[in-house]
This record gives sequence, C-alpha cells and structure tokens, in this order.
Amino acid sequence: MPRPILAYINQAALAHNLSITRRYAPHARITAVIKANAYGHGLMQTADALKSTDGFALLELEAAINLRDAGYNNLPILLLEGFFSTHELALFEKYRLSTVIHHEEQIEMLANCKQRGLNVFLKINTGMNRLGFEPKCLPTLLERLSANPAIAGITVMSHFATADEVSHNNNFMRQLQLFDKTTRINPKLPHSLANSAAIIRYPETHRDWVRPGLMLYGASPFSDQSATEIGLIPAMMLTSKIIAIQHLKQGDQVGYGCNFQADKPMRIGIVACGYADGYPRHAPTGTPVLINNQRCRLVGRVSMDMLTVDITEATDVQLNNPVILWGKGLPVEEIAHYAGTVSYELLCAVSTRVKLVVEQVPAE
Ligand SMILES: *Cc1c(COP(=O)(O)O)cnc(C)c1O
Repeated sequence: MPRPILAYINQAALAHNLSITRRYAPHARITAVIKANAYGHGLMQTADALKSTDGFALLELEAAINLRDAGYNNLPILLLEGFFSTHELALFEKYRLSTVIHHEEQIEMLANCKQRGLNVFLKINTGMNRLGFEPKCLPTLLERLSANPAIAGITVMSHFATADEVSHNNNFMRQLQLFDKTTRINPKLPHSLANSAAIIRYPETHRDWVRPGLMLYGASPFSDQSATEIGLIPAMMLTSKIIAIQHLKQGDQVGYGCNFQADKPMRIGIVACGYADGYPRHAPTGTPVLINNQRCRLVGRVSMDMLTVDITEATDVQLNNPVILWGKGLPVEEIAHYAGTVSYELLCAVSTRVKLVVEQVPAE
C-alpha cells in the first residue's frame, strides 16, 4: 500500500464550473486560466475537462507547448507574462501562442524580430501597479504595434486589484473608469478585464474575453458568498487516512512544540498529511477535518508529513478510516480562512508527492 494521501480531481465538476462561468458571462469568450499546473489540479486532465473553453491562459511556456503537443491545436493559448527573451519569440510563433505585452523591453524585442502572426494582449496598468503600461501611453503604443509586421491582432487588457472585496468597490470603479477612458480612443479593439470575482459580480467588465481561474476549480473568491451559493462545485478533494491512533491522559501533549495539551483523556488520530504535502502549517488547533462525515478538529502543530486530529467524540473512527482535508463537505476556502490565507494558495501548494487521481464520477 502506498502512502494514502491523494487528491481526487473531478473532471465533471470542472466542466460544470465552466458552464456556470458561461452562464455568468454569456456574451464573452472564455480564456480558462490554467496556470500553476491548473491551480494544482493537473494541467492535462484540467485542459481535457475544460476543452469546450474558447482559449487557455497560463504563464509557463513549457506547459503551453505541452498543450499544443497534446493536440490542443485550435484554441488560442495566452501567456500571461508574455515572453522573456527574443529566443522565446520563435517558440511563440511556432506554437501560435498569444502573448501579453506589459513592458517596453518586450516592445523593443518585437521591433526587430523576424516572427509574424503574433496575437498580443496589451496590458494597461489601471491601478494594480504590478504589470502594464501607463494609460497615457496607449495611443503611442497602439501606433507602434500597428506598424509592426510581427503583430496580427491586439486586445487591450487590464487586471483588477479588488474585484473580490466589496469594501474596495471605489477602487474597482476607479480602475474600470480609467480603463474605459483610456481605451475610448480606439473603440474597435477587443477588451479583456474580468477575473472570477469580476465575472460573478460585475457584468459590465465582461467585454470580449473573460479570464476565470479560481471559479473553474469550484472555489469562491469572496468571503461573503460561498461556492455553493455561486453554483460552483469543488473540483479537488484532498484525502488521506488515519495511520495511527494515540490515547492521551489528561496533561499529555501532542506534536512539535507541545503546544496542545489534553485537558481530559483524549483519542488522537494521526493523519498522513503534512505541510510537505501542501497542507498549511499555520492551520491552528480547531481547523476542521472531515472523518466519517463528522467534523473533527485539528489539534497541535501540523508537521511535515502528519497532522493530528481530536477523535475523542467520534467514537466510530478507526485506524485506516478515510479523512477529507478539503473538498466535498469541507470547502478549501474554510481551511484557508483558518490558516490565514486564501484558497488559491492552498490549491496551488498541493505538492508533487500527492498523487492526482482523476475521479470518474458525475458532478451531481
Ligand atoms: C491568475 C489570473 C487570472 C485568474 O484570476 P482568478 O481570480 O483565479 O479568476 C486572470 N487574469 C490574470 C492576468 C491572472 O494572472
């Protein structure tokens, strides 16, 4: 028997979440964001489940090439940070990859290149202050790019900093207004603005291409609206088993740092899942773990390969019983909340030693 930790990937749930995305943005084309190994869900099985999308977006050139080699020949594939050297430009042409352009250096590389037929997404910085050109540069940029024989098509894009936070609505509105004011000079160019949060909350951002990531994986980007309320189904279920049971006396302690002490006789289940698997080390005592459909609480520190759960009340729980760390019945958002992070980080952090198993079950 191998170590029992597994991440089940439900392809029907991925396909379902894509159809929900279409329902939210019926007039836009969808570029499904599958960066970071499809948010930890596995690139190929995710691409397969999402094959009715209108395009894919990611950051890793090698993964983009792997998609083409696997037979995804007709969908646009967008590289969200674009190319990093002139050498890469040849690969963009060869594999017909679209590129984000966010920096002057990239325009200079394009100015002298031999490549042709490149589709570019010109990124405007409307307030995220991470990537993108200043809005006032847009007219000059469009002039230079339109005169460049390497370039076949231009889409103008931007990215929101706060579409997921109601309390920052003003900031969101400022970004959107700046984008619209900036792009008014050339109203024919297609736009791409919306991430998951904007797709769900702000239909006015949908435009020509939406860029959903998190929602495709069945997690909610909001703290005040659950995935179920949005209509999404979690695509990943992280599971393991109880590999040992300890009986504590009052006053006994558990794990590194002895930071949990039993205030009564307790039964502790040892689960084969730790931070080297991607479970957050900062998840505190009290973080829920699902065993036999009962919510038990994590106690003590998460260690590299194991975590410890209070099963004193769950009297039916036995050695080798399956454990759900997150997934069906226990949203990853909830674990992220306990650990002081976001579901994005937990999904991406599932490590390579956790086998991803494609689950052949309906999304229900
Ligand atoms: C990751 C990413 C997205 C997807 O964001 P979600 O919040 O996961 O929907 C969209 N656009 C860009 C530029 C990204 O980097």
